Amino acid sequence: MRPVDFDYAAPEDIAGVVQALVDGGDDAKIISGGQSLMPVLRMRMAAPELLVDLRKVDGLREIRQEGSELVIGAMVTHHTLATDPLVAEHAGLLAQAAATIGDAQIRYRGTIGGALAHADPAGDLGAAVLALDGSVDIVGPAGERTVGAAEFFQDYFTTAVGEDDVAVAVRIPSHAGWGSCYEKFTVVAQAWAVVAVGATLRIADGVIQEAKVAMANMGPTPLRASQVEAALAGAAVDAGTLDAAGSRAGEGTNPPEDSAGTPEYRRHLAGVLARRALRSAAGVE
Ligand SMILES: Cc1cc2nc3c(=O)[nH]c(=O)nc-3n(C[C@H](O)[C@H](O)[C@H](O)COP(=O)(O)OP(=O)(O)OC[C@H]3O[C@@H](n4cnc5c(N)ncnc54)[C@H](O)[C@@H]3O)c2cc1C
Repeated sequence: MRPVDFDYAAPEDIAGVVQALVDGGDDAKIISGGQSLMPVLRMRMAAPELLVDLRKVDGLREIRQEGSELVIGAMVTHHTLATDPLVAEHAGLLAQAAATIGDAQIRYRGTIGGALAHADPAGDLGAAVLALDGSVDIVGPAGERTVGAAEFFQDYFTTAVGEDDVAVAVRIPSHAGWGSCYEKFTVVAQAWAVVAVGATLRIADGVIQEAKVAMANMGPTPLRASQVEAALAGAAVDAGTLDAAGSRAGEGTNPPEDSAGTPEYRRHLAGVLARRALRSAAGVE
């Protein structure tokens, strides 16, 4: 189906984007890669009167180091995340998650800002950013603020990005030297996760110093598997310990029920994927 007619603006700076959103009110929407928005418009599930495109805004496609953080512009595509050497070095889990998204066309067009703002609970980047203790820089009419991932994701398709706000960058504290693995289970290739688990571990002298584990599609927002993390902190790296901790990933979760699986099946799957992700992140066969 063809979308309802809309006006189009492509401001050249963020101030212009915010102004266009304010002027457009409820009827204005940002477009980045269009990979989630265009299907919604074509199905006429939304009919904004104005699309405000970020493509001309300078700097939104940059990836740079700022102190101990990696700063990733909101218009950085999934393909770039999956292939950029800085992302691989400092945020390996994010690169791995991005590589699993959809197909090549979606990875070339879709952006990290769009994916996080869209906040599909099955989205891969939200889980990775949450596991990595990332945060999002947001600019709105009242200025700029930075929101940690745990506060950013609020509910199904709901985030801290307000109607007149723009997500401009994602900040990831460097995880250089950490082992990581993103395990995603799909019904068919190149699809959304039935469940996905991302794990990243800092290991020294055969001991897990820190463990960070997050899951996609196990609730209305990406979730940290804090019981798994607690079970691993300070533990020796061995298969039994990793498996016992990973098995607990589904505890306390309330995953959705749909044609791909029941909540009980998803909790089981989370345990299986967490065990695999932890073993791989730790380099244990
Ligand atoms: C067939 C298909 C398969 C897919 N498979 C997967 C998958 O396996 N895993 C996965 O994670 N994703 C998947 N996606 C979604 C894909 O990752 C999208 O690219 C992503 O969800 C949205 O990014 P976008 O840049 O295309 O955003 P858009 O579609 O342009 O925008 C999405 C929403 O976010 C808002 N928005 C966009 N950018 C910003 C910003 N900077 N600040 C504030 N609001 C903003 C828009 O107004 C809109 O509401 C799939 C999509 C399709 C069509």
